[in-house]
Amino acid sequence: MASNNQNKPPVLSNNITKASPSSNKKKLGVDEVTCDKEQKFGAEKMVGTANNARIRQAFSVVNGIQDLGLSSNPASNAGSECGTIEFTREDVEALLSEKMRYKNKFNYKERCENMMDYIKRLRLCIKWFQELEGDYAFEHERLRNALELSEQKCAEMELALRNKEEELNLIIVELRKSFASLQEKLAKEESDKLAALDSLAREKETRLNMERSHASLSEDLGKAQEELQSANQRIASINDMYKLLQEYNSSLQHYNTKLQKDIDAAHESIKRGEKEKSAIVENLSTLRGQYKSLQEQLSTYKASQDEAMRQKDALVHEVASMRVELQQVRDDRDHQLSQVQALTAEVIKHKELAVSSEDLEARCASQSNQIRSLSDQLAAAEEKLEVSDLSALETKTEFEGQKKLINELRNHLEDAEYKLIEGEKLRKRLHNTILELKGNIRVFCRVRPLLPDDSSGSEGKLISYPTTTEALGRGIDIMQNGQKHSFSFDRVFMPDESQEDVFVEISQLVQSALDGYKVCIFAYGQTGSGKTYTMMGKPGHPDLKGLIPRSLEQIFQTRQSLLSQGWKYEMQVSMLEIYNETIRDLLSTNRDASRLENACNGKQYAIKHDASGNTHVTDLTVVDVCSTKEVSYLLDRAAHSRSVGKTQMNEQSSRSHFVFTLRISGLNESTEQQVQGILNLIDLAGSERLSKSGSTGDRLKETQAINKSLSSLSDVIFALAKKEKKEDHVPFRNSKLTYLLQPCLGGDSKTLMFVNISPEASSVGESLCSLRFAARVNACEIGTPRRQTSMRSSESRLSLG
Ligand code: ADP
Ligand code: MG
Repeated sequence: MASNNQNKPPVLSNNITKASPSSNKKKLGVDEVTCDKEQKFGAEKMVGTANNARIRQAFSVVNGIQDLGLSSNPASNAGSECGTIEFTREDVEALLSEKMRYKNKFNYKERCENMMDYIKRLRLCIKWFQELEGDYAFEHERLRNALELSEQKCAEMELALRNKEEELNLIIVELRKSFASLQEKLAKEESDKLAALDSLAREKETRLNMERSHASLSEDLGKAQEELQSANQRIASINDMYKLLQEYNSSLQHYNTKLQKDIDAAHESIKRGEKEKSAIVENLSTLRGQYKSLQEQLSTYKASQDEAMRQKDALVHEVASMRVELQQVRDDRDHQLSQVQALTAEVIKHKELAVSSEDLEARCASQSNQIRSLSDQLAAAEEKLEVSDLSALETKTEFEGQKKLINELRNHLEDAEYKLIEGEKLRKRLHNTILELKGNIRVFCRVRPLLPDDSSGSEGKLISYPTTTEALGRGIDIMQNGQKHSFSFDRVFMPDESQEDVFVEISQLVQSALDGYKVCIFAYGQTGSGKTYTMMGKPGHPDLKGLIPRSLEQIFQTRQSLLSQGWKYEMQVSMLEIYNETIRDLLSTNRDASRLENACNGKQYAIKHDASGNTHVTDLTVVDVCSTKEVSYLLDRAAHSRSVGKTQMNEQSSRSHFVFTLRISGLNESTEQQVQGILNLIDLAGSERLSKSGSTGDRLKETQAINKSLSSLSDVIFALAKKEKKEDHVPFRNSKLTYLLQPCLGGDSKTLMFVNISPEASSVGESLCSLRFAARVNACEIGTPRRQTSMRSSESRLSLG
């Protein structure tokens, strides 16, 4: 549009200039182009009116025919300037309504000339009109174009406006929406604000309350602190007072004793004073006597003086003569006077003495007063003492109450400890049961105490027992070359644990032999580690007896108590020794003929297992037993036999394995139930290695045999652990010992191994070997123990060797 405007005005102005060269017309700007026709016409009229004078002039020029004097050549002028001649409506109307007036109607020439002139003018007028019309048409066209343009513009504008309007409407809608939302927000904000104000007010209130309560609380706190302080002060002062009182009490007691002493001293001084007093009184009386006699003397002297005076008087006359005499008498008198003076002085002295006795009396009185006050004080102190005695009594009763409480607590503690011990026992039993169910070979370790003969003790440093709850009673640490080796077993017996302590742990196992289990208990360890001590005990010390006698005692006791339940047991004992892979019957009397025969055939003591898992050793002495006495007799016999063997072979018992076997067969008459159990208690030969014993010859052979049997024992155990089901692969036959114990080592028996340890420093290597072996055994799982029970059949007794 802007470009259109720029282009068009010059065209328009050109046209206008052409059409109307007047200055007024030229002034019509682009703005007026848009005016409608009527306005234009009006404007034209106005133009006409404004230029009336000039147009009039022009018309008059056209009409100059009547006014020819003004122009010399109006026609030519009119003709040449017709383009510039302009007409107004009046001019045209005047031209049209012009009437020809003729002086001579028939002067056609004139009329024709006039007509011609008129026509000329008309033509001019028409030409002007046509020009004007053309102008108008042009103008009209231009205006239409302008109108169209402006209409277009208008339409565009309208469109734009509509778009704008729509946009604005949209904006308005949006604004309305936003207004609404803002109003909502405002409302919400206002409500929030109100709520906030509310809460603020409430908070303020609560804060005020809080502040108030805080203030009151802080006041209270201050007060309480003050009170506390004052209470503390009071406590301190009371404590001080208490201390002071105690001090005072003690000082009073001191004072009391001092007073007592003072009283005693005062009594003594009173006594002394009284003595003095009596002495003084005596003195006084003697002095009084003296005084009296002196006074008497005085009076006699006075009398004699009087007499002398009288004599003087009488002898006045004889004065002169007797002046010398008189003088003498005077001297006498003077002498007497001096004597009197002395006597009076003495009297004064005596008086003074009397005064001093009075003083003494007064002192006595004051002292008795003092004594009285002291005794008063004493009474008060005694009262205080009584009070303190009372308080002491109170504290004593309190003390007694506390003592009672302590005793009660101690009892509680004892109870709790007892419960704890019981619980521990139960736990152990449960543990044992679990282990038994798991079928482990259980391993107990026992460390013997240092013996007087042992190389002096470094035990404490070498062997220690962890005290953590986990490892308590189960762990053992051993030091070798500064290195600590830790082991843990099912139980570790420390040196101070007694035979009874050890037996308590295996009594359940022994019990299970009566229930029909095969039970096997080994003692493993180097020579001198306490195997025989553990199994048999110390000979000649009944209270130190070992597992074998204790087990048998228990079995016989239990047998007795099971009688009431209908159980009858038969028991048989056999004892043998395996030395250099040969069996020796320890109960043999060597009188049996078949035995000798077998011995010659080399069939003696052949080990045989029957189908039901029972072992039979040919020619082995088996003795029926039914009391502990019998068994102890047999044990003695075996020990004797063993010691005989020892001397015969110049050998120690520790070079052979000792096997004690108790076969138990039980029958319950009422339930027809049968059980067959075996209890094997084995004291193995010393496990020391070849290198240590430094053996040669026979000794070497023995040691090799021992090592072989022990290693085959371990082979059997490890093989059992590995190949539980395939018994073919278990090397039972590798040694007499393992072959003998085959049924008891298999999966269905309960096996326990004691590993005995010597605490001697020189044995550390062997101890470590034993512990390692035992630890390996402990890790073995052989199987689940089985009870051997059955109902009574035709074969009522076990087949026993
Ligand atoms: P081993 O049979 O292993 O060769 P012993 O049982 O003969 O060993 O024991 C050797 C010595 O140690 C014996 O004099 C024995 O009395 C003593 N002894 C072993 N264990 C203990 C113990 N727990 N308490 C006291 N003395 C023991
Ligand atoms: Mg021994």
